[in-house]
Amino acid sequence: MLELKMFINGEWKPAKSDQMNIVINPATQEVIANAPRASKEETEEAIEAAQAAFVSGVWSGLTTHDRAQYLNKIADKIEERYDELVELEVMDNGKLKAEAEFDVADAATCFRYYAGLILAPEGETYQVPENVQALVVREPVGVAGLIVPWNFPLLMSVWKIAPALAAGNTIVYKPAEATPISAMKLVEIIEEVGIPKGVMNLVMGKGSIVGQTIAESKDVDVVSFTGSTEVGREIMKAASGNLKKISLELGGKSPNIIFADADFETAVDYALFGIFFGAGQVCSSGSRVLVEESIYDQFVERYVERAKQIKVGPGMAEDSQVGAIASEQQMNAILNYIEIGQQEGATLALGGNRLMTNGLDKGFFIEPTVFTNVTSNMRIVQEEIFGPVVTIQKFKDEAEAIQLANDTDFGLAGAVFSGDGAKALRVIKRVRAGITWVNSYHPTYVEAPWGGYKQSGIGRSLGKYGLEDFQEIKQININLDVHPVGWFPN
Ligand code: NAP
Ligand code: MG
Repeated sequence: MLELKMFINGEWKPAKSDQMNIVINPATQEVIANAPRASKEETEEAIEAAQAAFVSGVWSGLTTHDRAQYLNKIADKIEERYDELVELEVMDNGKLKAEAEFDVADAATCFRYYAGLILAPEGETYQVPENVQALVVREPVGVAGLIVPWNFPLLMSVWKIAPALAAGNTIVYKPAEATPISAMKLVEIIEEVGIPKGVMNLVMGKGSIVGQTIAESKDVDVVSFTGSTEVGREIMKAASGNLKKISLELGGKSPNIIFADADFETAVDYALFGIFFGAGQVCSSGSRVLVEESIYDQFVERYVERAKQIKVGPGMAEDSQVGAIASEQQMNAILNYIEIGQQEGATLALGGNRLMTNGLDKGFFIEPTVFTNVTSNMRIVQEEIFGPVVTIQKFKDEAEAIQLANDTDFGLAGAVFSGDGAKALRVIKRVRAGITWVNSYHPTYVEAPWGGYKQSGIGRSLGKYGLEDFQEIKQININLDVHPVGWFPN
């Protein structure tokens, strides 16, 4: 069993309170770690350390080359500890080993990417109608408060930590209570490469205490949050106190539009992958499949036949294809939605149950679940379930496909499957979402911006946009003709 510690001002610390967070493996319910629960005061101590480190310039004052070297060393160490990180992430979150392997590899890639990007040419110069040289430069924002969820514990953290460090900020970082283990391992790595004291601070504990303190602190200059839309709203309110910069990566209810002229087997396959990858606990999941009328029955039949064969099981078992639900609370929330769907009159075409046989009874596992005969006003079509539950809806034509796709408060992701390139592009351009695919679902790359329209968030992670979240923009005007301005007569 692991005894987790926090990292504040360069020191590993237990919490002052003896109230611990018991961390369990959701595939077995075994206790795997004890994590500290910080108070408001301990969180403030970490914020103060980050602020002092920022003001001192120990990090922002380094050359970008030096900061890039640290980031590359972090990437090397993530790769050295690849197997350990994969195993811990599976134990903590319940995901498949193959999924965790992607996460750990992508984490290293992300550090390398920002190590490179920070060395790229930046800034601008302007011709202005005076004898003045105008420059635009980028600077770090200051203290970055980073709050992450439990579905991609390591990767979501790295999407924030890598650009925040690259840009020269100092950090206060809070992982989710459900999955704090890889957070501590990552911060161990960051300590090992020798990042100066106070630059990286890790605080564990409840969102309502630690997260809230970070979001409302006058000494935090930017808060970057990934999580639910509901908590995102709270973060935005809390951030208004000192008008800190905010970046919100929130929930989704993403449409996956399948036209009759799509490659049928490809569309079925990606529509399965779109929702059952990560047991549907993925913000960009294609949870609403929209299928053209003429192939609807055939599609549903084939989809259910394929979904039936999916093997649900523990993440480390080689033959598992869908892993555990990350927590009992999340499992119950999903099962509740399945009940709501039935009460609303949708047809349960497959699944709907917790899996308790073949050794799965100790863990939190749910069958791949498919609802048909749904209408847009149903809660299972409107609300984010965040589990292995999909709705399949019928549309008549292009116009109706677009209308149904956009009939949601969310706008995170979406896809179109069609053999007609012009139609696919026409439709995807009309989908009000930030992350989209044509004839594909899910793959995404560190180079490209990640984030949502509408109530799926504000700002973009990854790419140059992810760096900008952690940068201020300054104009510098240099007078090339130094004499009195002459506004007031002399
Ligand atoms: P959540 O309940 O919103 O929690 C996210 C994080 O916020 C956790 O660390 C949580 O702490 C903390 N938190 C809770 N209440 C808070 C408050 N009042 N102030 C500050 N922080 C607070 O979300 P979740 O259930 O962990 O994650 C699932 C959600 O994340 C889904 O909606 C999903 O779509 C979204 N998500 C979005 C993206 C994206 O890129 N758009 C990626 C992944 C996930 P504790 O839980 O430790 O108390
Ligand atoms: Mg856990």
